[in-house]
Amino acid sequence: MNELPKSIVTRIKSCRTLPTMPGVALRIVDLCRSEDVSLGEVAEVLKQDPALAARILRYANGSAVGVRGSVTSVQRASVLLGALTVQTLALSFSLTTSMQATRIGGFDHRRYWRRSLFCAASAQAIATFLRTPSPEVLFIAALLQDVGMLVLAHTLGTEYTRVVDEAGAMHDDVVAAERGALGFDHAAVTAMLAHDWNLPSLFVEAAHASHGGTPRNGPPGAAEAIALSSYIADIFCVEDVALASQRAQAVAHGLLGMTREDLEQVLASTAQIVAKGAELVDVDPGPPESIAQIFEDARESMLALTVRSSLERQALEDVSLRDPLTKLWNRAHVDRRLDALYRDANSTGSPLSVAFCDVDEFKKVNDTYGHAAGDEVLKHVAKRLAGALREADLVGRYGGEEFVVLLPKTTPRDAHRVCERLREAVGGATMPLDDGRVVRVTISIGLASLAPTTTSAMELLKGADGALYVAKRSGRNRVCAA
Ligand code: GH3
Ligand code: MG
Ligand code: MG
Repeated sequence: MNELPKSIVTRIKSCRTLPTMPGVALRIVDLCRSEDVSLGEVAEVLKQDPALAARILRYANGSAVGVRGSVTSVQRASVLLGALTVQTLALSFSLTTSMQATRIGGFDHRRYWRRSLFCAASAQAIATFLRTPSPEVLFIAALLQDVGMLVLAHTLGTEYTRVVDEAGAMHDDVVAAERGALGFDHAAVTAMLAHDWNLPSLFVEAAHASHGGTPRNGPPGAAEAIALSSYIADIFCVEDVALASQRAQAVAHGLLGMTREDLEQVLASTAQIVAKGAELVDVDPGPPESIAQIFEDARESMLALTVRSSLERQALEDVSLRDPLTKLWNRAHVDRRLDALYRDANSTGSPLSVAFCDVDEFKKVNDTYGHAAGDEVLKHVAKRLAGALREADLVGRYGGEEFVVLLPKTTPRDAHRVCERLREAVGGATMPLDDGRVVRVTISIGLASLAPTTTSAMELLKGADGALYVAKRSGRNRVCAA
């Protein structure tokens, strides 16, 4: 799983240059947590930060269509916009202001914030399209989804900024590079921070969802909105608009069943929300003409994809669902399939088993043969795993050297047999490297099966992860069941 190593947690916690949550934001967070907050209370907190109150009024005046006269008090703004929206706005202003106030050498802040703005706007646009309640809340959840990147830049300095610089332009490329170099990605840091800051659970969920994890609660569609927002932001932030928009199109279709027309509508409203949101969070989105131009280019590319063959479309969809290194399914896809299989198993009463596989002492492989050789070994492992499975099974790369196998309609007993086969398929193989050397690795496997007491797909996965831990502790190269 995407767990943060303890050493990183310690470094983050002791990092002195990291901004802290401003007092007003803290109080707003507290208010957000209580069920029935009065508008008066929100207004009272906001009064303590006149600059913040002024921005909220500006927003209210901009959006209060058909309201007679101007909105001059926070209290009135809260009545017009709703308490939840005002809280959300206040939180986003104060958090972004404090995060923006810091600068880290070697990290492209302008690019970071511009991308975050496009994520935020598109998440809100998608939520509006899906008729998710309070789409503004998604604006801020998406705005902050990558804040872990800032934190890593602060904490690790060039050790981190180099990874980002050398990664490809798309956000997926950055995530893959982080996982490769660090063993985790920035979503884990965002989630930790959201938790430590006591942000509403949607923020923690959003961090997990941003790279395809499965959120446990939150409004329906929120996780998909956040996940898709990242692909839409890429359209506006990378040079290859055509590729980015076709990927977004494939993901929109794969995640939410959206058509090209649906996505066009979302893109158009993203551009509108960006114009308004830019002023709110004080981020420069670039000239309106260039945004309009990107929008046109994106429309053209999406249209071109629609008329292309279904085979090519499939290939593109694969790009968004497959892990680029091993070509196995990516984590997002595994999570979605697990959810679906879990629901299916529950409704039909059929068995379901999940295996968590982890390469043993893989760090040593990297240390001995180099990182590139390590990558080659991972490809071999992937091939071995895929080759030892049945048609109905599914294997994906879950993180660095971790693979998850989904075994539908498989009893614990049969699953154990399958896992033994997987273990032998990897451990019994010699893996040739490009330079002629040969490597052997083993894997440990944790297995969990659906039981009457299981309450969620996540619980099943956690069970397998726990069993994997036992397999590691009891000597590696073995299968342990939860
Ligand atoms: P254990 O048996 O306890 O699992 O030991 P380990 O060394 O495999 O476990 P650990 O989780 O400590 O280290 C995993 C290593 O995998 C660290 C990380 O650098 C490496 N790694 C993760 N992703 C990639 C990748 O994409 N390519 C390469 N070459 N290495 C990776
Ligand atoms: Mg390992
Ligand atoms: Mg590991």
